[in-house]
Amino acid sequence: MSYKAMSHRDVLHFINGEYTPGTSGLTFENICPVDGQVIGRVHEGKRDEVDAAVQAARAALKGPWGRMSMAERGEILHRVADGITARFDEFLEAECLDTGKPRSLASHIDIPRGAANFKIFADLVKNVPEESFHLATPDGAGAQNYGIRVPKGVIGVISPWNLPLLLMTWKVGPALACGNTVVVKPSEETPLTTALLGEVMNDAGVPKGVYNVVHGFGPDSAGAYLTEHPGVDAITFTGETRTGTAIMKAAAVGVRDVSFELGGKNPAIVFADCDLDKAIEGTMRSVFANCGQVCLGTERVFVERPIFDEFVARLRQGAEGLKLGRPEDETVNMGPLISKEHQKKVLGYYDLARELGATVVTGGGVPDMPEDLRGGAWVEPTIWTGLGDDSPIMKEEIFGPCCHISPFDSEEEVIERANDTVYGLASAVWTENMSRGHRVAAQIECGICWVNSWFLRDLRTAFGGSKQSGIGREGGVHSLEFYTELRNICVKL
Ligand code: NAD
Repeated sequence: MSYKAMSHRDVLHFINGEYTPGTSGLTFENICPVDGQVIGRVHEGKRDEVDAAVQAARAALKGPWGRMSMAERGEILHRVADGITARFDEFLEAECLDTGKPRSLASHIDIPRGAANFKIFADLVKNVPEESFHLATPDGAGAQNYGIRVPKGVIGVISPWNLPLLLMTWKVGPALACGNTVVVKPSEETPLTTALLGEVMNDAGVPKGVYNVVHGFGPDSAGAYLTEHPGVDAITFTGETRTGTAIMKAAAVGVRDVSFELGGKNPAIVFADCDLDKAIEGTMRSVFANCGQVCLGTERVFVERPIFDEFVARLRQGAEGLKLGRPEDETVNMGPLISKEHQKKVLGYYDLARELGATVVTGGGVPDMPEDLRGGAWVEPTIWTGLGDDSPIMKEEIFGPCCHISPFDSEEEVIERANDTVYGLASAVWTENMSRGHRVAAQIECGICWVNSWFLRDLRTAFGGSKQSGIGREGGVHSLEFYTELRNICVKL
């Protein structure tokens, strides 16, 4: 499918193996954030569409999917991954149309990692041992206990717009590998790759009803109806902490399990003994990659005083060297924000920082883009200094290409300041003193702390957030904790 054909296509729900407009009769515009052009219409699902998808998913649990061995399911999931790879260019175009992110980024991260999620979890579930305990009994014969893992059932998957295919498959991959069926509600901003995946599922031989997609918004739309639906056994969600709170309330009815990957206000700590080239290169990525719309991204940078001025000057130089433009331009390394609405939010923080007396080291506004891009959701890469730790700029997640840089004087001080947040998702520590690296990393309250790196992910490791950044861990065997029930069988001998 060409870029153009994709862009003008209606985006339909995918229910029970078939594309359908549903019955609500409602659609909404899909807008490309690069230039503000309408690229298609998306069908909005309400209660009926969600109900049809959940029923299809429930039926599929009892169908061939439920009777397949783990190995058979694994083979099919490998074919899903291969199917994404075979249609790499279509997925790439779809993702770039929806998000505006540079192709160089999406071709390196979003699409290949999105495909890999199916293979990795299909292989992983086969290698997890089950527990067994022998129990002595008064009659001397004993009893043997052993655990088996069974699928949890129908999983509701609610995903965000910043890494659409990657974060959705990060949930759908393990859910299916464990034998569940899913109903996915992708972000209203980025429906295309989730929709396209339906075709790949069919081609790979995934039985009908195993993978379902309903498009729409959150409240009073597909998202809320999915989380409220009593036929959904568990909900996995990535998005804002506030949305997580609403979903948790819905999940409480029927006491359904949740797995949440939520917002962050992540610190980077740069010690004077770091390798400054590496620290600048890593911080450039952690602040500006994906136009700052990465949950793991850095918004608070703490730099030890002796190198503060040099660090600020070099990060500024890097930020001013970023090239903004169309996804297909290979020289571009920063795209727009996801939407005009998000642009308004980020620019609100840019104004607030100025009003609060921040020193604007660079950026702080809307860049002067060529005529054909003026309708896009562009913002300048921005760096501030001079604000206190209590400022809203230091407390609230902005989710844009911006950071505040503060000086610090001691290890104890910076650990306390880095932890002074309601969030606890990720952090980065830059030092060539490895004793310090280990020591500091262990004291940062977060789910993942990188030392001398950022976004270096081993999918076998636990991923998630502490404090208000999430509930539970996914990744590796930890995904099994959420996507399966551990059933104990006790046999009296
Ligand atoms: P969001 O919370 O606005 O939306 C996420 C999804 O939830 C969308 O599909 C949306 O339609 C749906 N939704 C909204 N309200 C709902 C409701 N009441 N009931 C059910 N569904 C509802 O988040 P976003 O703006 O798409 O994504 C950005 C946020 O996601 C940031 O806060 C970012 O930090 C976070 N995020 C976290 C991680 C992580 O791993 N911790 C990863 C990526 C993004």
